Amino acid sequence: MIRVRFAPSPTGFLHLGNARTALFNYMFAKANKGAFILRIEDTDRERSREEYTAQLMEDLKWLGIRWDEGPDAGGPYGPYKQSERLHIYKEYLDKLFTQGAVYKCFCTEKELEERRQIAILAGRPPRYDNRCRALTEGQVKSFQDAGREYVIRFKVPENTRISFNDVIRGRVEQDSSLLGDFVIARPDGIPSFHFAVVTDDALMKVTHVIRGEDHLSNTFLHLLLFKALGFEPPQYAHMSLTKGADGALLSKRHGVTSIKDFRDKGYMPEAVANCISLLGWSAPDKKELFRIDDIADAFKIDHLSKSPSVFDLKKLDWIAAEHMKLLSAGELSLRIAARGLFMPQIDGVLLHRLIDDIKGGASTLNGLHAGITAILGPLAVTDGLKSRLSQDPARKVLSAFAEKTEKAEYFDRDTFDRIIGEIAEENPGLKKRDIFVPLRLAVTGTDRGPDMHLLMEIFGKTGCLDRLKNFSEKV
Ligand code: GLU
Repeated sequence: MIRVRFAPSPTGFLHLGNARTALFNYMFAKANKGAFILRIEDTDRERSREEYTAQLMEDLKWLGIRWDEGPDAGGPYGPYKQSERLHIYKEYLDKLFTQGAVYKCFCTEKELEERRQIAILAGRPPRYDNRCRALTEGQVKSFQDAGREYVIRFKVPENTRISFNDVIRGRVEQDSSLLGDFVIARPDGIPSFHFAVVTDDALMKVTHVIRGEDHLSNTFLHLLLFKALGFEPPQYAHMSLTKGADGALLSKRHGVTSIKDFRDKGYMPEAVANCISLLGWSAPDKKELFRIDDIADAFKIDHLSKSPSVFDLKKLDWIAAEHMKLLSAGELSLRIAARGLFMPQIDGVLLHRLIDDIKGGASTLNGLHAGITAILGPLAVTDGLKSRLSQDPARKVLSAFAEKTEKAEYFDRDTFDRIIGEIAEENPGLKKRDIFVPLRLAVTGTDRGPDMHLLMEIFGKTGCLDRLKNFSEKV
């Protein structure tokens, strides 16, 4: 059975890159009828925060990512928060001590940094020089008795080649002489990232580790730990990273990059998930629009690209508008209401017709709502509008329209068409647009927008006349 995990550190908001890792793990598990685990890597007590864990879980759920095992869901290999697993790491650390695979290192930060600089100047790899490996038991005891601080380091075997077959990148190798003995725990038993990850992946029976390329160099260390602990390592797949449209690695500089930002802006989750899934992965037949759960079965890990993917906000906006079009006006107004946004009070049928008319032009629910309120809300008579409409033929058209509308008994589609026809007849030099554009501008403030018939129906006779009157008063 295939078992994968997403293992975020709750030190900030879930951002696009991490969400992508989560999504691909989720899709891979789904495609293979495997299990998807959520594990919270919160051993860094200073930087980890409960609020981030909660937000992270909410954001994942919002994206439609569900886990089979996790802190809230439980499961056979829990607990699923590393801070609750310290006793487990302690047990395996003791095992490594007994095997003689680890030792205490008393070098200070300052000493380490000095030696690092010297190594760099001498053109040697800036790795730990394994100095404390040679300490005798007596030296260790006297250092400890003197209260000197220490960390626990893992003995990297000398002169070996560490290699593995990465599912995406093929064979990768590293010479162990480039690696110094690395830290796996502090004396208080808090494990390093490397040690916790390996112990957990082993005990949680993870079969595939799908994570960002930034972890590639860690994998060599992890393989050594797997071996020392006597566990079979999982298969690794290191995904290329994501860049912004400017070619730089995605960061805060690129604006909206946390999932929370996308939510706050009113993007719909299915659109965001769709867009993220296309970062370095392509769906069968190069399909670009889908819902994750409809396509997940077709997910193949080796379809992930080796080169960096590019996140382009314009592409998200396009995908998002397409998802908007797929939803009914009723569904969209419910979603807008669920955001706590207030809808103008007009007839429900007309409102839905209006939403259907304009939904494809919006990429967020906030944008759609703003579009609706801009059309239905009070009209701002700007200087630009005034100058466009205070001269003939616009002025003439507007007053003729107001006069004829005032006289009309009913104000429906046919009446509107009749009035327009009459104005055209009375002013033979005018083109259709010379009549429509001023009318639209005076009633909605912009020269583009929904079907005029629909607008006239929505505003009704009084609404239209009020708008025209408001306008002429200001001009
Ligand atoms: N906690 C690590 C991170 O947030 C992920 C570890 C892993 O996937 O192995 O980068």
